[in-house]
Amino acid sequence: MSFSVTLPDGSKKEFDKAVSVKDVASSIATSLGKAAVGAKVNGQVKPLDYEIDSDVEIAILTDKDEEGLDILRATAAFALEAVAKKKYPELRLGEHVADEGGFYVDTDKKDQIKVTELPELEKAMEKLVKSGQAIEHVEMDKSELEDIYKDDPYKSELLKKVEGDKVDAYKLGDFVDFGFDALLPNTGKIKHFKLLSVAGAYWLGKSSNPMLQRIFGTAFFKEAALKDDLKRRAEIKERDHRTIGRDLDLFFVDPKVGAGLPYWMPKGATIRRVVERYIIDREVADGYQHVYTPVLMNLDAYKTSGHWAHYRDDMFPPMDMGDGEMLELRPMNCPSHIQIYKHHIRSYRDLPLRVAELGMMHRYEKSGALSGLQRVREMTLNDGHTFVALDQVQDEFAKILKLIMDVYKDFDITDYYFRLSYRDPKNTEKYFANDEMWERSQKMLKGAMDDLGLDYVEAEGEAAFYGPKLDIQTKTALGNDETMSTIQLDFMLPERFGLTYVGQDGEEHRPVMIHRGIVGTMERFIAYLTEIYKGAFPTWLAPIQAEIIPVNNDAHGEYAEKVRQELAKRGFRAEVDNRNEKMGYKIRESQTQKVPYTLVLGDEEMKNGSVNVRRYGTDEEISKSLDDFIKEIDADVKSYSRE
Ligand code: ATP
Ligand code: ZN
Repeated sequence: MSFSVTLPDGSKKEFDKAVSVKDVASSIATSLGKAAVGAKVNGQVKPLDYEIDSDVEIAILTDKDEEGLDILRATAAFALEAVAKKKYPELRLGEHVADEGGFYVDTDKKDQIKVTELPELEKAMEKLVKSGQAIEHVEMDKSELEDIYKDDPYKSELLKKVEGDKVDAYKLGDFVDFGFDALLPNTGKIKHFKLLSVAGAYWLGKSSNPMLQRIFGTAFFKEAALKDDLKRRAEIKERDHRTIGRDLDLFFVDPKVGAGLPYWMPKGATIRRVVERYIIDREVADGYQHVYTPVLMNLDAYKTSGHWAHYRDDMFPPMDMGDGEMLELRPMNCPSHIQIYKHHIRSYRDLPLRVAELGMMHRYEKSGALSGLQRVREMTLNDGHTFVALDQVQDEFAKILKLIMDVYKDFDITDYYFRLSYRDPKNTEKYFANDEMWERSQKMLKGAMDDLGLDYVEAEGEAAFYGPKLDIQTKTALGNDETMSTIQLDFMLPERFGLTYVGQDGEEHRPVMIHRGIVGTMERFIAYLTEIYKGAFPTWLAPIQAEIIPVNNDAHGEYAEKVRQELAKRGFRAEVDNRNEKMGYKIRESQTQKVPYTLVLGDEEMKNGSVNVRRYGTDEEISKSLDDFIKEIDADVKSYSRE
């Protein structure tokens, strides 16, 4: 027997008898033998005891490799399973995953594992790590495992997916599990790990399946790396709009009453209303005419528009009204605004015609993609369609882009980039076929961006089915790229709906349609604002701008109410905290609720008609007359606008 093992640098090593991965590593260098945690053999991750007896390509994995880290995390997941099963013998285990995000293990028992049980499980794992027990790598008969798991529907189902009669498994004492590429040979190697959280997860990700409890954790080779990771996770959590939304009571989504269908609580609704008023005012100033149109429309309109052919997967099923009429919840507002255009005969003098609406629409997003307010199934888009003559496209595009940039300045949004989204010519199912139209509109968009001298990236396959678009991309706290604003060129819908205008020449012409969203949907935009401000909304957006705290409810309650009325009269959002709590508690609460101004009112203030002001984020208390405070908060509220 003789075979050669090819290393990543192309060099070869010859062997004349079967060797393990560890042997190969040691034969390269003793230190590598010690550092090795596994290997990639012909591109597949294998454990240290994996036997090699023929020609292969091999890359030894150590703690420096991502796949090496995956092996460590898989070992930690295995150790978690073993201790959990020992603690709760009735526990059943589902899938386990280890990747760049850490690891998780799905579990199921009558009283589901709660987050408060994690410290105990973690302790048991620590003990297991300290005791340094051998993890045995074994090849087992499938029938033997089938027997072991005969009362476990989850493992039985997973076992069915394993090909052949033999199963690659790992043992720790009596505990056995399978489905790992590679594990470390001893529990003593899992030194730096942490259990992070638990959350419900459907078995195999299907919402018709039972809900299991997923335990998340992570592990690193080095303590410092674990510490950094935990810090980063804490920061993300602090910024995550779902966490803040709960803590500040802005909104909630409850899958029991409808996944992806958000409820806006009074404070969240207040922020939204401020944004809506702001954007409508901005648009009206820019020549838009705001309208209201229905969320339901005859399905035929979506057949004409092409939504039914190209966008059906994202739409809610139509409602059969029983008399031949089919109604559809709109996934986009374009066909509605087209009706507004068509309602009158249009002439070149009407163009550009700018129709806008805060249009509610419904999209059947996949349940796994739903996330807080970021990705929902019912949303309200700051939508607008401008109908222009061909030679007006470029100017209108620049005008819309300027509006977007101005708006971003007002909200202090600076971290974004432009993406030109083209069709994928091969995807004929998503994109309507008309090569000439696509080429022409894509060129126009690119030309407009180049003329403005703006940088952008180009992305094939991201266009809307009816035309290319400029997307303005931002990053969420979780690090995902999301589209916020968008400008889309469309030669198709005007054609399909037979839109015309009478030109200067007295002839009929076809307008071009530009779809645009400035702040995008209210849902995604407010999720984004929550994350960039970490819940400390600037005063003009803050749901409560001033929290008024009487030192003593009985003695100062009346004065507090008077101050509130003075503020409310001038349009400021103030509330009196007259609960039966200690003053110190109320002040702290006002800080955790991130209210911009906390006003504490006692004898002194009552006597002088003054207020004692604490600005959010500072420890300073400044006494001033109510008039002066009103001037201060007024200037603060107005300061968002850069005009
Ligand atoms: P995505 O690629 O994010 O699904 P899209 O390209 O389908 O979005 P458009 O049709 O361009 O989105 O929608 C306009 C705007 O609506 C987007 O810029 C985005 O701000 C917002 N939006 C789209 N889908 C959702 C959703 N499911 N939840 C919240 N906002 C959304
Ligand atoms: Zn549109």
